Amino acid sequence: MQVDAERLAREFVALCETESLSQSEAKVCRRLKEVFTELGAESVIEDQSSAQTGADCGNLLVRFSGTLPLPPLFFTCHMDTVGPAQGIRVQRKGDLFTSSGDTVLGSDDKSGIVACIETMRVLHETGTAHRPVEFLFTTCEEIGLLGAKAFDVGMLTAREGYALDGGSFGDVDIRAPALNRLIVTVSGVAAHAGAHPEWGVSAIILAAKALADMPQGRVDKESTINFGLIQGGTAINIVPDKVVVEGEVRSHNPEKLAQLTEAVRNRFVNTARHWTDPGGAARGKPRIEVQVKQEFLVMQLAEQAPVIRRIDQAAASLGLNLRHGETGGGSDANILNGKGLVTAVLGTGMTNIHATNEQIALADMTGLTRLLLTLLTEVTF
Ligand SMILES: [Zn+2]
Repeated sequence: MQVDAERLAREFVALCETESLSQSEAKVCRRLKEVFTELGAESVIEDQSSAQTGADCGNLLVRFSGTLPLPPLFFTCHMDTVGPAQGIRVQRKGDLFTSSGDTVLGSDDKSGIVACIETMRVLHETGTAHRPVEFLFTTCEEIGLLGAKAFDVGMLTAREGYALDGGSFGDVDIRAPALNRLIVTVSGVAAHAGAHPEWGVSAIILAAKALADMPQGRVDKESTINFGLIQGGTAINIVPDKVVVEGEVRSHNPEKLAQLTEAVRNRFVNTARHWTDPGGAARGKPRIEVQVKQEFLVMQLAEQAPVIRRIDQAAASLGLNLRHGETGGGSDANILNGKGLVTAVLGTGMTNIHATNEQIALADMTGLTRLLLTLLTEVTF
């Protein structure tokens, strides 16, 4: 089985130059429908998730039944990219792809998508027997994993698979932290800053006090905390009565995630509780409301899980040694694992993602394609 590197390169350039910001993935979706239908897919189904995600298309689900009597596997990639993405022109120097410098490249995640396409092209043209395989192409990964969240996993027959996404080629992420989003509304009392400041309770000062001694950054080996958004106040001559602070807690350990989330909540609540009125004339008391949203659950695969042993075996037969690791980021894999689909993340080789100097080497994408081909045709469990 020969991977056609130049064919893969052409498809990669064409896909990257097809703009697909989150919620505008329809053109890429259409292209993938065409490609996989031509390659003889048994079913090519767009789901109904656009109603929930606001995207101009649904998630795309493609199935090839294969002839080897083995359990099905799936591969998943996201169709959307971050911006700036207007008028992407791919540059190629030798083996290396970049954008023209004013946009992202979009190898995140089109490098994964082309590996799926080239894999099926090779199997199609050589007629090689392979195990059943499904592809899930999601929307809106970059804006909160919305496509994966809205996906009905009952539409897949495979229960185990791989997300082809961030990281170096050769990396397999088997652990990723869970994430809680915290939306904290600090309410004070508005008053004229010159005439009656003593009537007011400043929500900004309260929020600042709570944040000033909040644990931040890497709080232990498996957990991080960050407050990244703050919004409040109306004018300099008004004691501010409202501030909304948003942050996140991540941890690889679900118990710690719960403890830290509670600790952050308590820090805010106690700041309000311990507030004392300096002038004795305030026309009210501060209030705190903390909303916790579970964004995604932890991803924790065993080193000896079949999904890992399979990919290790495929790599070994290519003379590769995969590195099992962890990531601090969240991806569709967190969502799918949370829904009961055992999903490891295979790095595609993309670097400097979400930046205009994003790049990827052709050799990494052909390497990934060979790995997929070997997995589908040679691994027998
Ligand atoms: Zn990605």
